[in-house]
Amino acid sequence: MDYLPLFCQLRGKACLLVGGGEVAERKARLLLKTGANLRVCATHFSPQFQLWQQTGEVTLTEAHFSPGMIDECWLVIAATDNERVNQQVSEAAEAQRIFCNVVDAPEGASVIMPSIVDRSPLMIAISSGGTAPVMARLLREKIEAILPQHLGKMAAWAGSLRQRVKDQFSEMGQRRRFWEKVFNHDRLAQTLANQDAAQAEKLTEALFSEPLEHKGEVVLVGAGPGDAGLLTLKGLQQIQQADIVVYDRLVSDEVMELVRRDAERIFVGKRAGFHCVPQESINQILLEQAQRGKRVVRLKGGDPFIFGRGAEELEALLNADIPFSVVPGITAASGCSAYSGIPLTHRDYAQSVRLVTGHVQNNGSLDWENLAAEKQTLVFYMGLSQAGEIQQQLIAHGMESTMPVALVERGTSTQQRVVSGTLAELSTLATEVSSPALIIVGRVVALRERLRWF
Ligand code: SAH
Repeated sequence: MDYLPLFCQLRGKACLLVGGGEVAERKARLLLKTGANLRVCATHFSPQFQLWQQTGEVTLTEAHFSPGMIDECWLVIAATDNERVNQQVSEAAEAQRIFCNVVDAPEGASVIMPSIVDRSPLMIAISSGGTAPVMARLLREKIEAILPQHLGKMAAWAGSLRQRVKDQFSEMGQRRRFWEKVFNHDRLAQTLANQDAAQAEKLTEALFSEPLEHKGEVVLVGAGPGDAGLLTLKGLQQIQQADIVVYDRLVSDEVMELVRRDAERIFVGKRAGFHCVPQESINQILLEQAQRGKRVVRLKGGDPFIFGRGAEELEALLNADIPFSVVPGITAASGCSAYSGIPLTHRDYAQSVRLVTGHVQNNGSLDWENLAAEKQTLVFYMGLSQAGEIQQQLIAHGMESTMPVALVERGTSTQQRVVSGTLAELSTLATEVSSPALIIVGRVVALRERLRWF
């Protein structure tokens, strides 16, 4: 972290702005909003500054900058078009340990000004640490667009309720649940936007008097194959509201980064050399936590209903009458297909696609006859250790040994690797990649030559 974001209380505090032009005006406007006691020094002032002086909002000093001017200031901003002067201001501030912002020169400054989305009292500040201001600005525009204007009113309203909420709910979890109810209350938001205080009071009273839903629940969420951008919006909302997240090895670190910070995380995957937590124990964890009234997210790689044993976990909850829901995820086949440039179907080459488990031993034998048929794409999950068997059986059942195959390791992540060749080479290719990896068999694999992009 190169900069620590802070929100400064400047009301009534002396701040010095050096510069009297257009850029300085923009900074002045911002500082005036905070109620700062603004002094401006420049050799020439724009008409706006003159106006501000007449209305008593700023104090102007028409002079060259001198270090004495920053005495007793809390913040200094150098906004002249003269680099040398800006530098001088910055050095003087540094000498007195006063934070200083230098317009257009983050390297010469001890503070930088973020792009802001202002829904006071709610304030969002974005910074690229001076490296990519345009990116920060674009992000700001996006956030501006998705955040309703009335959000500030909602935040202010919440502020007025804080003490009462503290008094009424002793546990953190209860308070959080109450606040979530408040912030998800569309009608309350609309009422506040309409400035209908009486109605807002009424709705709020109802929120306080109805019981907080105390029954826990489990949400089975698909985390996608790796790239966090492939998580669904609903999945994101769920992991940000969870009390507890139960996850395994296939869930990427990138996705785990998005989990609500103070949610408890329980890892139930297999680590090299250790066995994974048995399925029954996982079922038990979900059950117990939900029975304690927790909002549990069971986060799984890919899609929870595709080779994810999601159904088994839900059965256990069903028996105990625990409410649950399921949020799908992008399964490895879709993710790997897209990121390797191998479409799974194609009008000329494949009219169907089959997702197959490579764990043949555990599932009895596969219907090799059907799998070897033409005009389809096969995607093997968990197939690495069985690559030899897959190769041998498909060829034995009539598939051409020149059929294109691809192995996609850690698909969609920045470490994605793809190796390809023919079916006859499959077992050798499998020794070149490590888990997790998918095996794709079919004529569509040849399209990668032209469609690879990642
Ligand atoms: N529910 C998951 C699959 C779990 S089975 C899903 O829908 O994707 C585990 C197998 O999935 C692994 O052995 C591997 O074959 C495949 N897999 C999962 N993530 C993968 C990834 N990022 N790249 C390649 N294969 C992956």
